[in-house]
Amino acid sequence: MSDEGFSFRCSTCDEVHVGTPSFSYDAPIYWESVPEAERGTISHLTTDTCVIEGQHYFVCACLEIPIHGYAEPFVWGVWSSLSAESFGRLAALREAPVDGESFFGWFCNQLPFYPDTLNLKVRVHPRSDGLRPFLELEPTDHPLAVDYREGVTIDRARQIMEAALHACVPDADQSD
Ligand SMILES: [Zn+2]
Repeated sequence: MSDEGFSFRCSTCDEVHVGTPSFSYDAPIYWESVPEAERGTISHLTTDTCVIEGQHYFVCACLEIPIHGYAEPFVWGVWSSLSAESFGRLAALREAPVDGESFFGWFCNQLPFYPDTLNLKVRVHPRSDGLRPFLELEPTDHPLAVDYREGVTIDRARQIMEAALHACVPDADQSD
């Protein structure tokens, strides 16, 4: 399979961007305001989990947006909050996955391109084989929820990718 579907000239930086769109956040947005002295003491961040002040729990999960006429989805690696109980249960499921369980959470990143995505309601679905959990968005009329549900055209996916590239990687324009 080729990535030709996403070779396009960018109207923001005039370079050709290639590759199926996939963007990940390193942390929930609230991590930014955790003081340095708390990091590694009462607040912890790994590639998959985050605990703030020993009492706010988060997990990294995949939000997959289908792209019409393209085999692979647009993937966002984003963070959801979880209750302490759900966070503990999710950790247990990593060891021994059980089908069909999912957990309520709140969306914890502000995506580019879309109106306010913080605090959209989600369900976190664990997956086996060490894969990150996937997110299910509450079926509202928020544009991200609509894209999640209905998928996007390749053209819209390119627009979102362009916005994401230039929001998530602000230095990209300075490389030349
Ligand atoms: Zn660009």
